[in-house]
Amino acid sequence: MQQNQIDLLKSQTVAPQQLFIDGKWQPGTGSQLEVISPVDGEVITTIERASRADMQAAIKAARQSFDDGRWANQAPGERKRVLLKLADLIQQNALELAVLGVRDNGTEIGMAIKAEPGSAAGTFRYYAEAIDKIYGEIAPTSANVLGLIHKQPVGVVGAIVPWNMPLMIGAWKLAPALAAGNSVVLKPAEEASLTLLRLAELAAEAGIPDGVFNVVTGQGSKVGEELALSMDVDVLVFTGSGNTGRRLLEYSARSNMKRCYLELGGKSANIVFADAPDLDKAALGAAMAIFRNSGQICVSGSRLLVEHTIHDEFVAKVSQHAENLRVGNPLELSSQIGAINSQRQLTSNLEFVAKAKDQGADLVTGGEQILQASGGYYMQPTIFTGVEPHHHLAQHEVFGPVLGVTPFNNEAQAIALANDCNYGLAGAAWTSNLGRAHRMIKAVNTGGMFINTYGGADVTMPLGGVKQSGNGVDRSLHAMDKYINLKTAWIQL
Ligand code: ADP
Repeated sequence: MQQNQIDLLKSQTVAPQQLFIDGKWQPGTGSQLEVISPVDGEVITTIERASRADMQAAIKAARQSFDDGRWANQAPGERKRVLLKLADLIQQNALELAVLGVRDNGTEIGMAIKAEPGSAAGTFRYYAEAIDKIYGEIAPTSANVLGLIHKQPVGVVGAIVPWNMPLMIGAWKLAPALAAGNSVVLKPAEEASLTLLRLAELAAEAGIPDGVFNVVTGQGSKVGEELALSMDVDVLVFTGSGNTGRRLLEYSARSNMKRCYLELGGKSANIVFADAPDLDKAALGAAMAIFRNSGQICVSGSRLLVEHTIHDEFVAKVSQHAENLRVGNPLELSSQIGAINSQRQLTSNLEFVAKAKDQGADLVTGGEQILQASGGYYMQPTIFTGVEPHHHLAQHEVFGPVLGVTPFNNEAQAIALANDCNYGLAGAAWTSNLGRAHRMIKAVNTGGMFINTYGGADVTMPLGGVKQSGNGVDRSLHAMDKYINLKTAWIQL
């Protein structure tokens, strides 16, 4: 990836976007939303602010396409061929997709190229390869019975995704859903729809039949709600905020009790013991755990718990990294950290800073909006020490570059602090004591733990939360379970 390639792509005009319903691009019957780039505050294009009727049309198309079996009944090898082609097309268009995505959501391009098209292509390939390797089962019943367990697609999947990593998270839901034979209606976030609309184009080119994959843009509170309330949607899969997740459960209860799988963010504890094998490496890891993509990552290590004997020395090291990071235009390869997604998110981040100060935490570095002359939304990497467990900053997800540091005296206190939170998505422990590492993995109540690193990810490893971080997992073969019904047949012999 060269700067001149990025420069060529970043100024391309983007045509006003439409809805992708039943294999066709269609204007919405609502109004339009301006797409404002967080890079420079400029309007890139418009997307449709679809109406409820538009969403109903997409659900109807998905239902029809599922019920007539145009995708679900294709030979597994054929569905595999189509999804592999889609993976190839994503890869062939990777830089274009990455630049478009960065213009839309502000992630630094070095991260976006790997985490967005790179990861999405890999995810489609992984589930495509799985299609013809997943077998039904024969239950160990008594000899005069044949108990068959078929794995069937559930039907129509409604997928609602956020703005931070739309292609990556979108692929985590779409690829296993489509691989299992379902039809999908996707509702991207208002703040980052462009790459998922482009994905619809590539999916059609790959040969996904009409109606099997639909994309409807617009407001969560309107078209998202319509999708979640539909009697014709069988499974809802979601990544986003806890407040919206709570609403989706209500919508499910008020409609057809559809299955809801929720990934709702976190307040992950990054725990550094004095016996960490390399404190310099741990300090860099702690900084990148929260400042990468300006903290706009669900598994960010936003609570730093540090053993009191190394607290001051360690905070000084992390602060040094925070101050040295080059925050700037995410389409410049020289920038290490990009933009905040929107004015709304930046305002929310600054409110967290103000509240942390009010509650008595100590601002060590950062705390301010920067680069206002660019017209975009940028913020300094920010660190507070003296954060107490009851503080707002210790309990609520900022989804921004704001780190709260809390000292601890011993292992038991570290575990208690880590678990004193409603979230349970990720966490980390840095220690050279093998026994302690395994004790931390067991004792910290999260979906996943990192040991002596922060933030490794692979499609082969499930990602999901416990407590109020959600339920169900994305990635790995386990994710297929969300999109499959077990259908039994009891055959008397
Ligand atoms: P954030 O605050 O990070 O934007 P949200 O949970 O509001 O997180 O957004 C994640 C996704 O949920 C977006 O696609 C958004 O449009 C959608 N959404 C928001 N509110 C609702 C709702 N009431 N019903 C369905 N979807 C919603």
